[in-house]
Amino acid sequence: WMFLLRPMMAGQHGGLMSIGRSRAKVYAEKGVKVTFADVAGVDEAKQELAEVVGFLKDPATYGRLGARIPKGLLLVGPPGTGKTLLARAVAGESGVRFFSITGSEFVEMFVGVGASRVRDLFQQAREQAPAIVFIDELDALGRARGIDVPGGGHDEKEQTLNQLLAEMDGFDPSVGIVVLAATNRPEILDPALLRAGRFDRQVLVDRPDRQGRIDILNVHLKKISVAPELDVAAIAALTPGFTGADLANLVNEAALVATRRGASATVLDDFTQAVERIVAGAERRGRLLKPDERERVAYHEMGHALAASTLTKTDPVHKVSIIPRSIGALGYTLQRPTDDRFLITTSELKERMTALLAGRAAEEIVYGEVSTGAADDLAKATDVARQSVTRFGMSASVGQAVLEEEKQQWLGDGSRLHPKDYSEATAREVDLAVRGMIDEAYQAAKDLLQARMADLRAGARLLLERETITPADFPPLQRPEARKVPAVAAQSAL
Ligand code: ADP
Ligand code: MG
Ligand code: ZN
Repeated sequence: WMFLLRPMMAGQHGGLMSIGRSRAKVYAEKGVKVTFADVAGVDEAKQELAEVVGFLKDPATYGRLGARIPKGLLLVGPPGTGKTLLARAVAGESGVRFFSITGSEFVEMFVGVGASRVRDLFQQAREQAPAIVFIDELDALGRARGIDVPGGGHDEKEQTLNQLLAEMDGFDPSVGIVVLAATNRPEILDPALLRAGRFDRQVLVDRPDRQGRIDILNVHLKKISVAPELDVAAIAALTPGFTGADLANLVNEAALVATRRGASATVLDDFTQAVERIVAGAERRGRLLKPDERERVAYHEMGHALAASTLTKTDPVHKVSIIPRSIGALGYTLQRPTDDRFLITTSELKERMTALLAGRAAEEIVYGEVSTGAADDLAKATDVARQSVTRFGMSASVGQAVLEEEKQQWLGDGSRLHPKDYSEATAREVDLAVRGMIDEAYQAAKDLLQARMADLRAGARLLLERETITPADFPPLQRPEARKVPAVAAQSAL
């Protein structure tokens, strides 16, 4: 095997070694081209990893000065934030070989193969040190033992995990090997993996903030042709919550939009269209709504939009549309966040709920009843209310106590780690408080719209006619400041 594979590995781009017939492969790369310059918006993670680069470049010096470099670093963060890219950049920066395997490839493996693959991985790394061993999607392989197989037993994953633990304990880091791993589900990892001497250092790779998004966009914009006046900050302002992967995809989409219209360079409008496509799903112009359904959607969306433009603490309205997009979304209202937010006050949460429920409220005011189209809004508003009560202690009747753990949305399955640890009586209080908050927000939305009935009707008519409108097309959607009318203050206490 080694004889056959040598020539492949010598190549600039490295080769891949596949051993056995399993899908899991050890990728051995030499001369990785990715550098830290290719990874933007994650400065803290880069800082921590710079130390690893220093060590790999010159393991001997590091040892002499007595610095202890961690054996294993775990990159933790939502999908698409650049964990895999960062690991490769560490290899590129330090110029060492990069051995990688992906946890999910171990899933369908025969007994014993996974363990021998891990042994092989470390052996190769030792022979060619300094080197990086990278285990992507560690959670697929390092899930807490005993979870998958009822009654425990020597299942394949357990053997593979045991082998990994043994290898991590067995190597001497001074030879210049660093083990990197990545996961978006750190909470399901076997605790043994996180013990001292294993993955005892975690590096958070989070979603980028506004400046981070600007930096990431600039990395990817180099690959396409853009108009010289393109305002990158404006694109960043439109994309809070986007990950690096989302932004890379956005740049590509925008270039496609520009290509389609036959332009020679990509402009801001191409990006706006691409954002809409990504946010609201691909445009489905072909789908026809019945006229009465269309009208209901128009009132519903105008309800959201008018509420958002009447309240003072919500994000301003950017665009309202009744062009059906993707399954389930018949229309949409885009609000343009003015900034990334780290703290949200009680009154802001209440206004958010009011804006969420205003679609339903408009339907009820105009038609006397709501429709199933508003179910998602209600679910979102309920979530906001429940969190304010159980996590932020914002309800007077339930009081100031944290009753639920933070829901880590990016962890994927939304599973709660701990069962409710409060009484039935408290649970009832919570339910009542949640319902109270929703009722109040709903009433606020109805009051607000009833006071603006003329705008609601005029806006819905215009929307039916044009399908998409902006505050420039329909000035009542502008902020109160801009309209020179007194703003509606936040509604009363919870
Ligand atoms: P993860 O491993 O965290 O899921 P990846 O590293 O696979 O994310 O990212 C996928 C792609 O998205 C990368 O190849 C890159 O093009 C882009 N990307 C993600 N994060 C960043 C970032 N921080 N800077 C630049 N590009 C990024
Ligand atoms: Mg990855
Ligand atoms: Zn809605």
